[in-house]
Amino acid sequence: MLGQVIELIEKHDRFAITSHVRPDGDSLGSSLALCWILRGLNKEAEVVICDRVPNAYTRLPGSHSVRMVSDIDRSYDAVFVIECSDITRPGLPSLGDCFVVNIDHHSTTALFGNLNWIDSTAAAVGEMIYNLAKAIGAKITPEIASCVYAALLTDTGSFHFSNTTERTFKIASDLVRYGAQPAKLSQAIFYNYPYARLRLLGSVLSTLERDESGRIAWIRMTREVMEMAGALEEDSDNIINYPLTIGDVEAVAFFREMDNSIYRVSLRSKNRVNVARVAEEFGGGGHSNASGFTIQAGYEDLSQEVISKLRLAVESAPQANTREIKPR
Ligand code: 5GP
Ligand code: MN
Repeated sequence: MLGQVIELIEKHDRFAITSHVRPDGDSLGSSLALCWILRGLNKEAEVVICDRVPNAYTRLPGSHSVRMVSDIDRSYDAVFVIECSDITRPGLPSLGDCFVVNIDHHSTTALFGNLNWIDSTAAAVGEMIYNLAKAIGAKITPEIASCVYAALLTDTGSFHFSNTTERTFKIASDLVRYGAQPAKLSQAIFYNYPYARLRLLGSVLSTLERDESGRIAWIRMTREVMEMAGALEEDSDNIINYPLTIGDVEAVAFFREMDNSIYRVSLRSKNRVNVARVAEEFGGGGHSNASGFTIQAGYEDLSQEVISKLRLAVESAPQANTREIKPR
């Protein structure tokens, strides 16, 4: 698969790179890194996305040349679609008319591309892009290194999550050698919030509830709360990790109200509690420990249904070992 991607790049000259709505650190970092790689190979390349770049990623090299579009131009030789579960996720209607290269690390992804390169062992698509850069013989510039590092940093939850492997650290180490600056990137992404974001955090955390077992917790964000805080939707990203910091909590749901009773629901879990399965039951997807879906529903019914499905997921998961950590 990687071989076919390399062949395609070598044979053609004009590329677009796109990713999903509400881009995150991996989708943007990987897209920008790929763009730098292609330009370094004297190809024409640009990143086009249907949403604006969230504030946290505006300091990544190349982020200001990301173009916000409502559809894709059909004239590119090929379009790389990064980190998308299906062809509708980028929100670009004409994508089906283009030659599409699907690059993803989700095991649940549809094989919607003319070429599909899927590696579910990669902690982030960033790892795959780094492997591509190496395999094609690209010079790893500080720009490429910084963008890939941002992808790894964010998709591993700052190297906290179970997708963090020896390979992740090995690549991160290479990236620092190639010019990525860990403290600067962390500061740009995690210590650069607007005041409104913290006001929103306070309001949303005050909605925290848990079930009788104490193993499932949930939080809610209404439009009203968001407006009162003067916050943007992107300011609610990552709030879901706070309930998961409670020792007994194994699964968390975050209900975000979008427009007229459309809810965007994020799910997170610890250990072997599989929330990708739960998201799939509601038409979404993701990873075992991080998933999501969007649905039109009333809050009371929706939250009860999600909580009861989370309960089943928690109860059917193999027990976590809480004894002293045994080094491998
Ligand atoms: P988040 O909760 O941060 O929006 O998403 C967490 C994970 O769930 C990501 O890996 C993302 O790809 C996946 N995810 C979120 N929403 C959806 C969705 O509507 N459909 C699919 N297939 N995956 C989703
Ligand atoms: Mn990812």
